[in-house]
Amino acid sequence: MSTLSIRDLSVTYRTSSGDVPAVRTVDLEIEKGEVVGLAGESGCGKSTIAGAILRLLPRRTNVAGQILLDGENVLEMSPRKLRAVRWAGASIVFQGAMHALNPVRRVGEQIAEAVETHGLAREREARIRAGVLLEEVGLPPRRAGDYPHELSGGQRQRVMIAMALACNPKLVIADEPTTALDVMVQAQVLALLKRLQREFGLAMLFITHDLSVLVEVADRLAVMYAGKIIEEGPARTVFHDPQHPYTRALADAFPEIGDERFRGRPSGLGGDPPDPQHIPEGCPFHPRCPQVFEPCPTVKPRLFTAGENRRAACLLVDEAYVAAAERDA
Ligand code: ADP
Ligand code: MG
Repeated sequence: MSTLSIRDLSVTYRTSSGDVPAVRTVDLEIEKGEVVGLAGESGCGKSTIAGAILRLLPRRTNVAGQILLDGENVLEMSPRKLRAVRWAGASIVFQGAMHALNPVRRVGEQIAEAVETHGLAREREARIRAGVLLEEVGLPPRRAGDYPHELSGGQRQRVMIAMALACNPKLVIADEPTTALDVMVQAQVLALLKRLQREFGLAMLFITHDLSVLVEVADRLAVMYAGKIIEEGPARTVFHDPQHPYTRALADAFPEIGDERFRGRPSGLGGDPPDPQHIPEGCPFHPRCPQVFEPCPTVKPRLFTAGENRRAACLLVDEAYVAAAERDA
């Protein structure tokens, strides 16, 4: 059984200016101990998927489909079961640790509390476990007495990672865990996450807009655009031989980890990803696509097979379609 199995997931935010279809019919599997990277520019729906898995979205949000954690659908869990699953079944490391940590409480207490809440240990034992976890993430146990503001950005992110590991989860979701850090620290935190993932055999959903980070840590990659997965496959082949023009643009934009010149917008790609309330007809990427051709504005490409264990949602990878187009030309 997969650790995580997402089937036909659609997430629609309800706002005063109407429905926002942020995630549209996404399928995603993560096997035990596997790292899956989720890429795509800001606004493509990555964090919405993370929020749906842990049920952290606004209450009115419409979530359809299935999200199976170890075979159990989180969308049908009782509040009590959900509380047990959060942290112990699946946990999350966010980008800005400052917001996730309580500023007026010592970091050791916060980790110990997570351990206690899930009944894994109590009082003295929980505090000892907090110290062990801090060491595990490369911080001296005495830092347990520090408040979040007494730590650097990188150290706070290490505390977040210790919290995420506190209850021995099977799945860790890392949502842009290194994006706010400078390049050196980014590499250290990445190396730490990779080491812990191996050591504990964790399944991981690693989210970032930076493909060069993902190719370092992920076994498989899924690339999102306008709320859909538009390419997926083994990390190396997707990064080094992308089949979708959007993935190609992303791969060109982030040739090396933390290359400052490429922060932000993929080079060679004009414009922005579409607003979910105004997704273009046909292929949603066609207005920005360097390889756009005649059918793209009207034909919605499904995910076609694009090599071994690979799929891409582009008419150019559909041999039958290309052959027919050439015949007609
Ligand atoms: P990513 O993580 O890839 O940057 P998000 O999942 O955060 O993307 O956002 C996807 C889309 O959903 C964006 O258009 C964003 O503006 C919209 N969105 C995110 N959160 C909310 C919300 N609480 N209410 C309405 N729209 C939202
Ligand atoms: Mg996000």
